[in-house]
Amino acid sequence: MRGLEEAWEAVWAACQRWAATHKLEYAPEKTTAVFAPSWRRGKKMAKRGPRLKIGGTTIRTEESMKYLGVIIDRGLSWREHARHAARNIMTSAQKIRGIAGRTWGTEPRILREIFDGAIRPALMYGAEIWGEKAEDPIIRRHLRAAQRAFLLGVTRAYRTTSNVALEVLAGCTPPHFEAAARHANWRERGTAEFEGKAVFAEGPHPAEPERKWEELPAETIPGTSFWTDASQGDGGTAIGIVKTEGGETKETRGLRLQDGYPTHMAELYALGIAIKSVAGQRGGNFNFVTDSRVALDMLTKRKGGAAHAILKEVERIETEGATVKLWWSSDRNRGIAEADRIAKRARENPEEFPEDHAPITGRMIKKEATRVAMAKWQQEWDQGDKGRATHEIIGTVDRRLRGWSHRAVCLLTGHGPFRGYLRRFNLTETTGECVCSTGAQDTAKHVMEDCEEQGRMEARGRWRRRQEAMGGPVPFKVTAQTSEEEVRNFNKFTEEVRMEEELEA
Ligand SMILES: [Zn+2]
Repeated sequence: MRGLEEAWEAVWAACQRWAATHKLEYAPEKTTAVFAPSWRRGKKMAKRGPRLKIGGTTIRTEESMKYLGVIIDRGLSWREHARHAARNIMTSAQKIRGIAGRTWGTEPRILREIFDGAIRPALMYGAEIWGEKAEDPIIRRHLRAAQRAFLLGVTRAYRTTSNVALEVLAGCTPPHFEAAARHANWRERGTAEFEGKAVFAEGPHPAEPERKWEELPAETIPGTSFWTDASQGDGGTAIGIVKTEGGETKETRGLRLQDGYPTHMAELYALGIAIKSVAGQRGGNFNFVTDSRVALDMLTKRKGGAAHAILKEVERIETEGATVKLWWSSDRNRGIAEADRIAKRARENPEEFPEDHAPITGRMIKKEATRVAMAKWQQEWDQGDKGRATHEIIGTVDRRLRGWSHRAVCLLTGHGPFRGYLRRFNLTETTGECVCSTGAQDTAKHVMEDCEEQGRMEARGRWRRRQEAMGGPVPFKVTAQTSEEEVRNFNKFTEEVRMEEELEA
């Protein structure tokens, strides 16, 4: 405690010096302190916080403080922030709803755009930091509560529908997984392996000469040439580099890269390795050849940190007095064909070639964070106990918003005007049995699978025949491959099949 108070005196002295040079003053009455303990499992937080003073005034100590729109709490649990953010969003949901009317009066797609463009970003604000705790059950509950009203609007589902089913129907990643992905993305970008830390505007700086690449003619080019290629397939990704002088092969090199490394990045990396290996000498001519136009465009237009780093090397060779040329060539040129063979060999014979760790890009980090979020979402959807009726038909999570009609959503969730549903939620005096002769409960599943009421049987028959004609699965299953036509076909069935109120009439 004493140590902290003494440390504060030193910090405060530094703050005062800074303020004095900037002609500023601190207001003790507006200053608050929050003590975030260094976290040790099982260790209790100190009862009394240290007393920190500004001049003669003791600063107030609080349980939490708001800084740049994020609430920092004493235990760094972020629960207070999640609660506060959720409350703000629910308030704006009510306002939007007041304007849009009870049924939201808005197309699901437009509402989803409002959700993606305004609601979700507001909820995710600061998730780079607090997302570390996003899967905490209390935070998860706050986040889901915040967006529930919007998901009900997007899906037009019954209010009894579970959050997990709403998320799948609306194609919205559960917010806690999204927040965790943002945190992971932010954290990974801080690692040393990441080459994209420096962010550069696209296109060359106006003060620098524009760099171009050309298509290589069939004849041999003067000087030293490096032919580079990448290969991707079974066994991962590999690159091949061939050095020639006057048409004669001087050196070859094959390297394996980490699994799943994107091809165009591997092509760029191969060029980079060749370029970095060169010591420029006065009067020298160096040609770097690839069969990837994408890699050359990335390089000459300075797309990303990796391209920028390679270009710096090109500039170094030129400063050393040599001439550098970048070429595109098809594999009709012997050098490219050879580089391609070496890359393939490295990929297929991993024991014969060394492995190299190519730098990770921002896009790769983001892609990986998204992949993890989707996998967690899928797992939650498979293993949960809510939304099982929906899971039976829509087994795979997907971020697409399908054009399900309101009646389709009723059948997909089981929450709709079915006697069995009304019985389950005590909304009817009846026994919940269907009007047909089977004596079964009138549920969505019964309507879709085995109801023997004449009209329903006929509607079901027509739906199945149409579904078979379009080559879709029977019984109906929704996957990433499900076409819009199948969705419309299901919507049509839901229009034709009679539900509770229509059966009464
Ligand atoms: Zn029936």
